[in-house]
Amino acid sequence: MENIKNYINGTFSSPVNNNWMDNYNPSNGEVYGKIPESSKEDVDLAYKAAKSAFKQWSQTTLEERSRILIKISELLEANLQRFAEAESKDNGKPVSLAKAVDIPRAASNFRFFGNAITQFASESHESIGQQAVNYTLRQPIGVVACISPWNLPLYLFTWKIAPAIAAGNCVVAKPSEVTPMTAYLLGEICNEAGLPKGVLNIIHGLGGTTGQAIIEHQDIKAISFTGGTATGAHIARVAAPMFKKLSLELGGKNPNIIFADCDYQEMLNTTVRSSFANQGQICLCGSRIFVEEKIYQQFKTDFVTKVKALKVGHPAKQATNIGALVSKPHLEKVKEYIEIAKTENGTILCGGNEVKVEGYENGYYLEPTVIEVPNDECRVNQEEIFGPVVTIMPFKTEDEVLLMANKVKYGLSATLWTNNLKRTMRMSNQLQAGIVWVNTWMMRDLRTPFGGIKASGVGREGGFEALRFFTEAKNVCIKY
Ligand code: NDP
Repeated sequence: MENIKNYINGTFSSPVNNNWMDNYNPSNGEVYGKIPESSKEDVDLAYKAAKSAFKQWSQTTLEERSRILIKISELLEANLQRFAEAESKDNGKPVSLAKAVDIPRAASNFRFFGNAITQFASESHESIGQQAVNYTLRQPIGVVACISPWNLPLYLFTWKIAPAIAAGNCVVAKPSEVTPMTAYLLGEICNEAGLPKGVLNIIHGLGGTTGQAIIEHQDIKAISFTGGTATGAHIARVAAPMFKKLSLELGGKNPNIIFADCDYQEMLNTTVRSSFANQGQICLCGSRIFVEEKIYQQFKTDFVTKVKALKVGHPAKQATNIGALVSKPHLEKVKEYIEIAKTENGTILCGGNEVKVEGYENGYYLEPTVIEVPNDECRVNQEEIFGPVVTIMPFKTEDEVLLMANKVKYGLSATLWTNNLKRTMRMSNQLQAGIVWVNTWMMRDLRTPFGGIKASGVGREGGFEALRFFTEAKNVCIKY
């Protein structure tokens, strides 16, 4: 059994109430460890550790903070294989994906913010004629919370923690109870890198109890949250009376819009990836595919052929393209949407069934599924499924597709395939999304603002936006 503990004040400890829950391996459905079911008392201990570390950490030089963050990054790289295997075992994603994307990105998060904090300058304004100068201080907030989901566990966990500590805050962090393993291992790395005790505290447990205790804590002044839209709305309601600063990165139902004048092969290959990478469990996946009518039939044939060739299998096997879904309840939810599609006159062009992988028959595997929908308003085209399921439908004009693309409650990202510059400019301006990719997908530059509009969230992270979120601006005006 691989049991894990909370990481408080630089040491690993059992939960105060000594309650534990099972941790499942999605590739075979077996329990392989116990995790703490932490309570309010544990959150309090974590808060106190963070609070007592704050004074010293907030006054630690930028160079020293930067050095420690970069050391964490190097240690993650040195432990790539171990972390990738742990992430895969917890989440069901192919080890190859965790090795190529998740863990390197977690390392980049620390390296990037370790460097960015040394470049984070503030403004000054000389009030000419009044003989005064104004300058802005960017001060750390104090103790902040970072709460992240299960789909890109270490990648998103560190996307929050790295800027928070780089900016001089101390952190109480909670990963999803479904995927706690790499967050646990991160504690070891932080100790090895010399991160002072209490700067980062990691608490494991259920969202509704442990997470709830974190968001209700009077003295935790800011919450950076990535997760579902309903949870985000709940956090906003709880936090509002306490005037906590909030960054909410929430769900998506992103359009992938394909015009006939695009580079066809590149679009086709990328569309397979943007539909099914990480079993379709990425908030940025292009889950609604709109194809210009004149290439629709061709696209349908070529896309379905490629999707059928994807190999569903055990995550540790090199040949696997699609691993296991994260949990049994999530698998059931995704399957339910496939049934809903049938009742809405959707046509299943491929997939739609559970897969029994030989030797791992109790794992949570599902075929990559393409549904041709009769209209854009059906539920499978409007609601976030968050699995290996995409919808496709044709469109005739730019205006028509723009209307359909924007007619959802979400506004996270959009992808556009075209070689027409004027159309690119027109559509990028009008698509309701925080991120628009043109002729590519998920090409990330950590300096750029990241986040959504509408039900996809509030606030931006990434680059200096994240450092702004994790600091308070204070203007000082000096008359001379
Ligand atoms: P959830 O909202 O269920 O959970 C996210 C995190 O919040 C988990 O750690 C969860 O804990 C915790 N949580 C749940 N309830 C509470 C609460 N009352 N108080 C405090 N914390 C709580 O999302 P999922 O984990 O299911 O993740 C999938 C969702 O995340 C999708 O909607 C996806 O689109 C979105 N997402 C958004 C991204 C973005 O950048 N916009 C990126 C990635 C995912 P626990 O798991 O233990 O219940």
